[in-house]
Amino acid sequence: MKKQCIRVACLLLSLSISACDQNKDRVFHDQFFSFGTLIDVSLYGVEQQLAESICRKIEADFMDMHVRWHAWQPGPLVSLNNHLANLEATTITPSLLQLLKEANRLSRLSSGLFNPVIGNLVELWGFHDNALPVGMLPDSVAIKELVDLHPTVEDVTINDNIISNQNPSVSYDLGGFAKGYAIDRAIERLRESGIHNAIINAGGDLRAIGQHGERPWRIGIRDPRQSGILASLEISGDASVFTSGDYERFFEVDGKRYHHIIDPRTGYPANNTASVTVIHSDAATADAAATALFVAGPDGWLSTAQNMGIQYVMLIDTHGNIHMNPAMRSRIHFESGMQANIILSAPLQ
Ligand code: ADP
Ligand code: MG
Repeated sequence: MKKQCIRVACLLLSLSISACDQNKDRVFHDQFFSFGTLIDVSLYGVEQQLAESICRKIEADFMDMHVRWHAWQPGPLVSLNNHLANLEATTITPSLLQLLKEANRLSRLSSGLFNPVIGNLVELWGFHDNALPVGMLPDSVAIKELVDLHPTVEDVTINDNIISNQNPSVSYDLGGFAKGYAIDRAIERLRESGIHNAIINAGGDLRAIGQHGERPWRIGIRDPRQSGILASLEISGDASVFTSGDYERFFEVDGKRYHHIIDPRTGYPANNTASVTVIHSDAATADAAATALFVAGPDGWLSTAQNMGIQYVMLIDTHGNIHMNPAMRSRIHFESGMQANIILSAPLQ
């Protein structure tokens, strides 16, 4: 039932995106469910048989990556986390190695605001599970204990294919980044098959390459506080658009919202941000950056974006103010009638 609701929500979002497409007949669409969301593949100008066969390969890849990179369902990441918790060095496969190195690199660039080793905190909050906690907060002492143990990627050493760890509270959860990384692998697969005009959209987070025929792809960005699209932007060439929002997964206790993006410094859901949208060339960086900037919040996003090499950011704070850098402002088109206070930052280099 819950999956069904997510499916419908994502379908609506992807429909609203494709509703911008006037020349639908040249676009091949395929959808499947993976990474807890609906994955929507759009291929422009690709012959039907090739399109179908490549989509089945992409689907199989996604299913495989989801199992291999899941932090709580039996698989290589769970077994790695067990070794890390026991401070045992272990070997890992080249593909997992590459993924973890990239996650660690992005974490360092974000000064740990994107922190892929806070799996124990995520689990304590109950966000590891499909079913969210009902009306109950985790024990504040347990949260403090975990925060004080200070798990960071600096605790992890990777030498050749051997990974070791010196902090037993380190536990990988790639939920803030794996979807982006998977989309990058899928785009690689498309390009290897000679497909250069496409979008892979995972529940509103996407990477687009090439064009929609003679014109750019047009992308919708969801309003964090009401259903529908807040703004749109155009992509020609290669760009990923990722949004982290406090509406994706949350529960309420005494009328207060507790969502799934945790500030590793406090152990609690990050305050002050409703959503962050980032545009960047690769999807893995965009995904990690959207999470990091969400945590950085209205006061910290600019310096974090600068450090992570991000050039386009829109952050909507919990008061509804829209913070953005000038380059993002010139790229984004708000829906007519949109009324919000726009706060322009200094330019990002
Ligand atoms: P979504 O997956 O909903 O698009 P995000 O990319 O922001 O949103 O990822 C949120 C997920 O990332 C959480 O469900 C959790 O698994 C993990 N996570 C939460 N806080 C952080 C953080 N500060 N750094 C890295 N990962 C996080
Ligand atoms: Mg993310």
